[in-house]
Amino acid sequence: MFGEYIDSHNHMHALNWDEWELLGTTGMRAAVLSCGNPHLYREVWDEAPGYDDIMRFWEGPVEMIRALEAQHFIQIRCAVGISSMTRVSDWENLLEEMPGFLEDESVVALGEIGLDPTQYFSLTWPMEEQTTCLEAQAELAKKYDKPIILHTPTPKKSKDFLGDVAVQADVPPEQIRLHYMQKDLEIIRKTGFDEAKVAVDHTDATTVGHIHEHTRAMCAVSIGSALRPLQPAQVIEWVERFGPDRIMLNSDHLGYRPIDILSVPKTLRAMRNAGLPEEAIRKVSFENARKFYNLAL
Ligand SMILES: [Zn+2]
Repeated sequence: MFGEYIDSHNHMHALNWDEWELLGTTGMRAAVLSCGNPHLYREVWDEAPGYDDIMRFWEGPVEMIRALEAQHFIQIRCAVGISSMTRVSDWENLLEEMPGFLEDESVVALGEIGLDPTQYFSLTWPMEEQTTCLEAQAELAKKYDKPIILHTPTPKKSKDFLGDVAVQADVPPEQIRLHYMQKDLEIIRKTGFDEAKVAVDHTDATTVGHIHEHTRAMCAVSIGSALRPLQPAQVIEWVERFGPDRIMLNSDHLGYRPIDILSVPKTLRAMRNAGLPEEAIRKVSFENARKFYNLAL
């Protein structure tokens, strides 16, 4: 028996029916969908998505939630954001639409957002503009009292239809994640947003210590993507070293690259096998996410 869990960040709106059923029958009680990214699907973009595109990416999952919950018995909530992973045009107009979503009870967070040195589909987004857009979104999160899911960039390799996304930044690849996380947090802090309501996502060995020792943020661990080959043993070591109070698991599942569909249940099984206390397992796989997003479960 795997045990129940909350997937605190994924893009399972890009997955198919059978995958939802598999997740629902192997312990997923709730999930938070990060909405707004055009690169989740197996589609090619030759120009930057704009107002109509991003509105569709936000509205689609929000409108689908009720049907999906009833069909798969998983509580689904959404996060909406203007991500820097792909360049977005008309983002100023999209900012004006965000309050309507943030007031919706099915939207529990703003995100995923965060500076990124490279964009998919070779559609480069100047850093100054990304910075302005990030700051404006942090202001909205503060005003509407919603937590932030903070994306941290993965040093990427060129990939067929996603365009040239190899790192071109001045920062060495092994420092990319920490470097941009610090820049993001600086921008977010300036707005007066409560740092404890930031989930710094895609934690790796370069950021886990910094998040615990120098910030009050939640440490979100993405375990289900082939792009970040993170093993359950690494997560177990982090929970033992830093304690379970500020770590929460997610799969970050999406539709355009290989995923391990059962990564979260497998990690629960490995934590149990390693002898972690049940209370610690419950915190990192369920309780921390429930409290962070204020979910009624
Ligand atoms: Zn994501």
